[in-house]
Amino acid sequence: MEFNNSYLNRTPNKTPRNTNSFVPEFVVLHETAGYGSLDWNLRPEVRSSYNYLISRNGTIYHYVDEQSYVAWHAGVNSSARGYTGGQLNTYAIGVEVEGPNDGTPITTAQTKSLVALLKYFNEQYGIPLTRDYFFGHSDVAPGYKSDPRGYSVEYTLKILSDSSDATNVRPDTLYAALRNEVYKHAGGEYRPDWAFHQYAEQNDLGSPIKVGMDFSTNGVRYTGEVYGRDVIISPYGQWNVVLRANELTDNAIYADLMKFTFSVLGLTYRPEQAFAAFIRRSPIGVPLTDSQRMTLPTGRSFAVQLYTLDTLFTPIAASGTTDWSVVRLLSTAMALANIDAAEAALRDVIYSAMYERIKDRYDANAPFIKYAFTHKLGAPLSGPQSFTYKDTEYVYVIYAGDTLFAPKSDLNAVKRLSEIKDQ
Ligand SMILES: [Zn+2]
Repeated sequence: MEFNNSYLNRTPNKTPRNTNSFVPEFVVLHETAGYGSLDWNLRPEVRSSYNYLISRNGTIYHYVDEQSYVAWHAGVNSSARGYTGGQLNTYAIGVEVEGPNDGTPITTAQTKSLVALLKYFNEQYGIPLTRDYFFGHSDVAPGYKSDPRGYSVEYTLKILSDSSDATNVRPDTLYAALRNEVYKHAGGEYRPDWAFHQYAEQNDLGSPIKVGMDFSTNGVRYTGEVYGRDVIISPYGQWNVVLRANELTDNAIYADLMKFTFSVLGLTYRPEQAFAAFIRRSPIGVPLTDSQRMTLPTGRSFAVQLYTLDTLFTPIAASGTTDWSVVRLLSTAMALANIDAAEAALRDVIYSAMYERIKDRYDANAPFIKYAFTHKLGAPLSGPQSFTYKDTEYVYVIYAGDTLFAPKSDLNAVKRLSEIKDQ
């Protein structure tokens, strides 16, 4: 376990232990309720400290060595496991997670570090990974302290217990191995025992794009995952309730979820724009780009926004006023018999942009591209990747609607991943 030791034992707010073989019994979890605690808690007049701090980027600072010192993190009005007041600090490890403590979820990097740290406490000190040994500050000082509000102790323990036997829950099949590769691109791993992953398969949501989102709206906390065909969320603690963005009837929750989804994808949600109104009525997956201007060699310009399953565009008037309420779908425009020459040229510009995003080149006759187009799998999310399973080398490309793969020795033998699920 790697810690940042640049602040280790520098705070005066600690009490030396008379032994160096101390074994902590339990853990109290906090949230800083502000930023800059590393320096703040160096001040003697603050009279508080902690053993570890997890910063917003996930760095774990070892702040007060629990084996040599008692940190002052939960002394006042606290009780747990039969200890009260200052005794708590003597027997418990105090962990601060940096955050405003206003309900804003902690970052994914912080969640990962927190899970790793709890696992370390279990391995290092034998602290059982149950709710009887891990407390929120608000659990031990109810009515007096409200932290942590940006994460849940139960959920952290659940992630930990779910991830400890990950390799055992994945069957040894080409499907599971390749699906796991696809989840790795989205920042996670494939877990066939998880409700989200089962839901995504059963409802043909396509490829995962982003996993491990923590999202709050209207006082309710959700965890969510973004797939090629939709975004799914689940309220904390109710893992079997899965809601789809496209089916949300509450416009306020929908708008909050979109705003959040766009931001985790590095984009900006603009609900006032015609494109946003269009996708609320006719969903075409999730966005790949913000609205951008594309200009044809002839000089005609369009506002264009790429989504996973289709592309929206509006012709920009060369002179006079652009009618922003005219929103066209690329697939619809291309299906017209008497296709406008400018729109046909626009298609090539859009496809080039779509493949440039993943550092590949658009070639309508390449086997994977041809297959994806014929089967309406939407935009590519990765360039060609190589992967070996049981001594066979494969090439795969992640598309929004599915993942395509072929043996490296025969790239024309393209298959979609979902078709081998039950083999
Ligand atoms: Zn606290």
